[in-house]
Amino acid sequence: MQIIINKTQQPKTHPDESRLGFGIHFTDHMFVMDYHPDKGWHTPRIEPYGPLAMDPATMVLHYGQGIFEGLKAYRTDSGKIQMFRPGENFKRLNRSAQLLCIPLIDEAFVLNALKELLILEKDWVPKKPETSLYIRPTIYASDPFLGVRASHTYRFFIILSPVGAYYVEGFNPVKIWVTPDHVRAVPGGVGEAKTIGNYAASLLAGHEAHQAGYTQVLWLDGIERKYLEEVGAMNIFIVMGGKVVTPALSGSILPGITRDSVIHLAKMWNLPVEERKISIDELLASHASGDLAEIFGSGTAAVISPVGELRYGKTTITVGEGKVGPVARRLYQALTDIQYGRKEGPKGWIEPIIG
Ligand SMILES: *Cc1c(COP(=O)(O)O)cnc(C)c1O
Repeated sequence: MQIIINKTQQPKTHPDESRLGFGIHFTDHMFVMDYHPDKGWHTPRIEPYGPLAMDPATMVLHYGQGIFEGLKAYRTDSGKIQMFRPGENFKRLNRSAQLLCIPLIDEAFVLNALKELLILEKDWVPKKPETSLYIRPTIYASDPFLGVRASHTYRFFIILSPVGAYYVEGFNPVKIWVTPDHVRAVPGGVGEAKTIGNYAASLLAGHEAHQAGYTQVLWLDGIERKYLEEVGAMNIFIVMGGKVVTPALSGSILPGITRDSVIHLAKMWNLPVEERKISIDELLASHASGDLAEIFGSGTAAVISPVGELRYGKTTITVGEGKVGPVARRLYQALTDIQYGRKEGPKGWIEPIIG
């Protein structure tokens, strides 16, 4: 399939790189293709970034049949542009597609289309340290139809957003709130898919956490409300008893690519790693016995997000004296060194785009 390229006649002025924020600015072009049952995925094109015309009955607006991904392109010190494990994102997009009855994409074709888009938009990859170009592939149900069924037609798009350093005020620990009243996902549900409704379902708990002065929600499992699942839209890691422990993928946890990379690096460094159930009681007991060293989240946006305080009901604990722990710091350094091309990572983790 040939990608049709229609360049913008009105290139935008680029935003100030010291105040990019996250998800605010978008580049000049986007990639789009459509699905029709008779044609499959068709008419791949790169066109000027702009609104998508939408019938008010478009199914995604009513029934939430939509999925997305999030990854980044990085500019290295020597001026190269590269991505971090992008093949894993398109693999996961297809797993999400299966769970949401969305037709699968050709992973290699779409990765190639993304590379073409990035080459066209190369000047939009910011240069300041710790900035990057955030990439948002999305698929939504596009039939104009009311009634609950899978849509027959779909649209796929990729948009790009230059984003600033996540830790504007330094790499500091956050405070997390264990919600007793809400759950994110249940076994047999769609918690392991990056599907739009999961985020709408997380808003009220996030709001309550903020009102209580906490930045992220720590989700417990949906059945017993006992076992740790995720923190905000990140996976969670605990360093206790000299081990790096993370909840096993249960079906209701999003299989993070950063999570997988953390596990890989920790094993490479000969740190004992365990993927298993972790109850909130075990965590609190570990803290009480002086065994709990670190808690941190992992995800594309923040890379590693250290946790300095955790609140569960009436109990508040301080983790690692409220400071960034050595494992979190080492992982953050190692992952960003690989992403920004300062160090070589495991084979296949870096996808070169330019240079
Ligand atoms: C995207 C996401 C993650 C992190 O995945 P990465 O591939 O590491 O970015 C974790 N949890 C949820 C709910 C997510 O949406």
